[in-house]
Amino acid sequence: MIVLKFGGTSVQNAEMMDATLTIAAGQIQRAPVVVSSAMSKVTDQLQEIAQLVGEGKESEAERIRAAIQERHMTCAKSFLTGENLARCLADLTAVLSEMQSIMKALAMLKEWSKRSNDTVLSFGERLSTVILAHRAHERGIDADLIDSRDVIKTDDSFTAAVPLEDLTQKLVTARVRPRPGTMAILQGFIASTTGGATTTLGRGGSDYSATIIGAALRAEEVQIWTDVTGIMTSDPRIVKNARTIEKMSYREAAELAYFGAKVIHPSTIQPAVNLGIPVWVKNTFKPAEEGTRIVPSIPGIGLKAIACKKGITLVSVSSSRMLLAYGFLRRIFEIFEKYQTAVDLIATSEVSVSVTIDNAAAVESIARDLSEIGTVGVENDKGIVCLVGQDLWKDTAFLARVFSSLKGTPVRMISLGASDINLSLVVPTDKMEESVRNLHQEFFP
Ligand code: ASP
Ligand code: MG
Repeated sequence: MIVLKFGGTSVQNAEMMDATLTIAAGQIQRAPVVVSSAMSKVTDQLQEIAQLVGEGKESEAERIRAAIQERHMTCAKSFLTGENLARCLADLTAVLSEMQSIMKALAMLKEWSKRSNDTVLSFGERLSTVILAHRAHERGIDADLIDSRDVIKTDDSFTAAVPLEDLTQKLVTARVRPRPGTMAILQGFIASTTGGATTTLGRGGSDYSATIIGAALRAEEVQIWTDVTGIMTSDPRIVKNARTIEKMSYREAAELAYFGAKVIHPSTIQPAVNLGIPVWVKNTFKPAEEGTRIVPSIPGIGLKAIACKKGITLVSVSSSRMLLAYGFLRRIFEIFEKYQTAVDLIATSEVSVSVTIDNAAAVESIARDLSEIGTVGVENDKGIVCLVGQDLWKDTAFLARVFSSLKGTPVRMISLGASDINLSLVVPTDKMEESVRNLHQEFFP
């Protein structure tokens, strides 16, 4: 059996829902399990609703809810007829009126907690999959709609819930019974606690739902259908001739996702790893294009992708007292911990430490505390260029090629070797995109 996940743009309207169903139905003999996102932008709208009702702004929230209702009803009416339409509208109405009651209750309580947030956000996937399932029936596809909250169980860390693997595995295999010739449809992103409270796996979490379900069912393959053709060598908005990576390893894909490349959710790969399930990233808008295959491992060394991130702050501390002393690093990191600031890259020398942070909200307090240890420098307006590929350091020409491509760019900090698949460089923000283009030209001419 296979799992196919479709993102928000793949179900954004009737036409795309049909394209989605055509792709899944084309593989019906492989017992497809379809995992769908909410229609594009709906989760953002729900996020707004959650906030508005929490502030007691019920009528503003109601306007957004009405727009969501209108969009789903219009979509259903545009391609469903007779009994299928009647049943779909009834199902949509049931979900929408549940949403209305919850909004009313939250507005009265002026509640906006992580817990209530997840309940409000869950409605997007619940609505999109209702239409998808009825449209499948209308097209004569034998489809079964299953509520993901009944099968994916998590802890209660609302907004970023952690799946309970064993229980989920048991429930998924008991409830989702893939058979050739039939299609199961489930919601991405949403789950529930053992007590039944609705949770979510974090924004963009439908990819993760797909691999969780894929792992539970020992899928042959998980397909992530999105609106770009696979994972690319670089951001096509920055590099015009960026191209699709044909094949990459789990570790390379995970590294890119952690770094913030938006194509797949960072947790997506993890459930596939233990079982070696291949993950295939494809484009619903151009289904004939191959996309990217993410596999357990691939032979050889070499660069796969160049990513970048701006808005980085570099903090450095130096003190001659660090020489031959111990305990300095601990004291430095305790200060970042105190201000709940995550440190990304680190470089150290005998008497100094530089780190990058991408959340600079507490940087003034951090600098003040650090100044008790040594001389502190804070530099804003930095960007990180991240080169991802297996065993980059083993290619003895690699660094020479990197630095000759960056001639004229003041590279402020380098991190290589922390993982064997990543070289990160800190450069001024206004040089970042140019650096990416130059590197891309060198390695992917
Ligand atoms: N609908 C959710 C979101 O927009 C989950 C997803 O699409 O993956 O974050
Ligand atoms: Mg996504």
